[in-house]
Amino acid sequence: MKLDFARFPAPDGVNGWWESLPPPGCAETVSSEYEYDWVVIGGGITGLCAARRLAELAPGASVALVEADRIGRTTAGRNSGFFVDLPHDISSESYSRSIEADKADVRLQRHGIDYVRSVVRRHGIECDWRDDGKFHASVNKRGQAALAHFAEGLERIGEPFHWLDEAAIKAVTGSDFYCGALFTPGCSTVQPAALMRGLAATLPRNAKAFEMSAVKSIDDRGDAKVLTFAGGKITAKRVILCTNAYAARFGGHPNGLLPVYTFASMTRVMNPDEVRRLGGTPSWALIPADPMGTTVRRLITDRICVRNHFAFRPGLEVSQADLAKARSLHQRSFDRRFPMLKGVELEYTWGGPLCLSANNGALFGRRGDGVFEAVGCNGLGLSRGSASGKLIAEYALGQSSDLVHQLLNQPHPRSLPVRPIADVAVSAAIWVKEFTAGAEL
Ligand SMILES: Cc1cc2nc3c(=O)[nH]c(=O)nc-3n(C[C@H](O)[C@H](O)[C@H](O)COP(=O)(O)OP(=O)(O)OC[C@H]3O[C@@H](n4cnc5c(N)ncnc54)[C@H](O)[C@@H]3O)c2cc1C
Repeated sequence: MKLDFARFPAPDGVNGWWESLPPPGCAETVSSEYEYDWVVIGGGITGLCAARRLAELAPGASVALVEADRIGRTTAGRNSGFFVDLPHDISSESYSRSIEADKADVRLQRHGIDYVRSVVRRHGIECDWRDDGKFHASVNKRGQAALAHFAEGLERIGEPFHWLDEAAIKAVTGSDFYCGALFTPGCSTVQPAALMRGLAATLPRNAKAFEMSAVKSIDDRGDAKVLTFAGGKITAKRVILCTNAYAARFGGHPNGLLPVYTFASMTRVMNPDEVRRLGGTPSWALIPADPMGTTVRRLITDRICVRNHFAFRPGLEVSQADLAKARSLHQRSFDRRFPMLKGVELEYTWGGPLCLSANNGALFGRRGDGVFEAVGCNGLGLSRGSASGKLIAEYALGQSSDLVHQLLNQPHPRSLPVRPIADVAVSAAIWVKEFTAGAEL
């Protein structure tokens, strides 16, 4: 199995979720030679769920989870923290697809959410887990029409929601930016870096997490896979790849998986006077009517987090200019929504790679003898990654279920034209969608 050494994961910008936590303990790194039954590569939500589930179902087996950076500092710990239960196709204009596809998505996503919620409760993981739902807010007639379309889709699959008028959404957010919203109760939200750290810290005893340990090569010797790191080696019987956007680095489907970055900023903590000026409720989570618009969360810690802007970066690296552009877009979005918070600075700005595909396809199943994969979040890694991580472990251990079949039967990522044609096409598509989202930004 060949690895592309172009770039290993590294932090892009400064992740506010991670920075606002207490400093972490020392990382346990791969610094010697080890033998394990299983190695899971990638300490995001998918890998954390895969490693946990393997260890739960095979208590006699040894499981290593290896992560190139710190667990909680990479993409799974730098997102907006929405565990979305409902249809959420960000390539559509209203998040929905067909009735069957929407129902299947909901079933899968709730399976993932239920699994992680049960772990959070069992271990008392402090990650501000909330089952408070989310608001889809619009700023104009176009947005209202998209929400109406989304609401029709929800009615068709029997999912509850309710409408808020301009005054009602202002009573929640304190902002008079929005003209209306639709509330859906099933979404959970978290402090994502705290959740990832907590999941790693509470792995079953037969699973061990190694951080700051990038896999540099994998030598497939049939029954034994030898993984090489800067400081040592792990020999394992089986391997599960949960590397999401970095999946192409392991030689599979490089032309169908699209590393598309999105960006977020978080304010400093507001003082009591600023909190009073803002008004609204102390914690809420809002996504835009247009998937390319701005996601906003008010945190119980009296910070506000905004996310918008996408950039196709096949080299899996963002520049200072990318971060500066994102920050200035975030500042503009923040100022438009919260003119009463003049002087509340954005303290942190960061980016992270999603793993999109042109047809919403993903990779799940057996890659080769003793090698499995669960890759391709399509922007919804928290709930889908939880489910596919749990289910890839079950599949790799020989278990079968309707949900395993659902994932095995999902489309593979559709191949794109060769670069640089694909680069131009994807960047142009993002630009057009962002331009159309306009007012929602
Ligand atoms: C700003 C932002 C906001 C977002 N908001 C949301 C949201 O609200 N809800 C939602 O569901 N999703 C959201 N996402 C997407 C979500 O973060 C991803 O879908 C999710 O992280 C995917 O999880 P994963 O475990 O599959 O992959 P990742 O989180 O990308 O984990 C893969 C891991 O593999 C590691 N890795 C790669 N190569 C190697 C190697 N050679 N050796 C060792 N380790 C390696 C990487 O370091 C990485 O930690 C957002 C993303 C961003 C950037």
